[in-house]
Amino acid sequence: MSLYENTLAQMKKAADTMSLDPELYAVLEEPMRIVEVHIPVRMDDGSLKVFTGYRSQHNNFAGPFKGGIRYHQQVDLGEVKALSAWMTMKTGVVGIPMGGGKGGIIVNPKELSEGELERLSRGYARLIAPVIGDQVDVPAPDVNTTGQIMSWIKDEYSKFVGKETPGVITGKPLEDGGSLGRNTATAQGGMYVLDKLAEEKGIDPASASVVIQGFGNAGHFMAKMLREKGYAVKGLADSRGCIVSDSGFEPDEVLEIKKAEGSVVNVEGKPGYEDVRTCSSGEFVEMECDILVLAALENQITGENAENVKAKYIIELANGPINPEGDAILQEKGVLVVPDILANAGGVTVSYFEWHQNVNDEKWTAEEVDEKLTKIMYDSYVKVAENRDKYSCTMRIAAFITAMQRLDTLWKEGKKI
Ligand code: GLU
Repeated sequence: MSLYENTLAQMKKAADTMSLDPELYAVLEEPMRIVEVHIPVRMDDGSLKVFTGYRSQHNNFAGPFKGGIRYHQQVDLGEVKALSAWMTMKTGVVGIPMGGGKGGIIVNPKELSEGELERLSRGYARLIAPVIGDQVDVPAPDVNTTGQIMSWIKDEYSKFVGKETPGVITGKPLEDGGSLGRNTATAQGGMYVLDKLAEEKGIDPASASVVIQGFGNAGHFMAKMLREKGYAVKGLADSRGCIVSDSGFEPDEVLEIKKAEGSVVNVEGKPGYEDVRTCSSGEFVEMECDILVLAALENQITGENAENVKAKYIIELANGPINPEGDAILQEKGVLVVPDILANAGGVTVSYFEWHQNVNDEKWTAEEVDEKLTKIMYDSYVKVAENRDKYSCTMRIAAFITAMQRLDTLWKEGKKI
């Protein structure tokens, strides 16, 4: 099954469970607009390379299309389409006035110099400029894209329209129109959702163990926040390898080593890390623990390995880390999965705050951002849990239902087609 077919299967299940208007479902089955671009870039050695990129605009009933841009060698159109549909569902779950979109470029950015990365990002921005805008489509960071890249895109778009337009993109650095709290928002939102889960299920942080797959922005901040709450962080993993320890890790110390030496696995053998061992990513997601946080890429738990998962709870901080076969097995086993479109929605929520500040020329304090984020995440969890109980379904299907209820209201109000 392709990633897009996975997404459709999830949407269909939710639509059937809640008896969604079939006409609305038909609208949601495909993105409203897809743009494919071919970006010529002059490389440092003088040669020319042409990169392929996409922007998929799934739905804008609630507001401008919204969603990140990823740079990855495995990007393809199906993936971008799936991720854009998930964004519509995500903005729907948290009830912000934005729709869903996603972009991507097929590239391994780690192989580019800073100058090549800038020329690629500016080239992409020029090609999608006619279809984005602060009232049209508002991109943001995703896998391998940074605040600096957002700044380049904002700059190029502003030149295109002849007017400084900070609200065209979110996830910008603070000094270039970014919002306080955006950097930590995905992890923070995940923590607030976990707080509600812990409250509901009686999880005690002091006696619960966590393993976290992914040590990028979301994974690292989540590890840090979990530690601050008192959870024992017993496993960490990045794209180069996985480490486990019975005595647990201090995420900031591991980050220092990763920054200096390239990977979390470099802690092995260092003084103070005598009980650390490395393991394969297959072994890692099957580790004994209470909570497994998936903060890396798609399809990490599938029909192949779900049976061996030992965690009681899974928080999907990445998009799509469990495929439908894996999901069905986990459900059977009684593993409670907090789905991506709820668990990682803190990122797009603070992106919405950033956009709101930009278009209204406001500056919110860190406290204001946090207060608003807390309320949205807590309320969203409660709404999803209510739908779960009402329809006797998983949290995932309940999250899709929550989003679709909102789209259905907008649809019934009319004027959408
Ligand atoms: N890329 C993030 C996501 O998948 C953030 C999107 C945004 O802030 O618009 O939710």
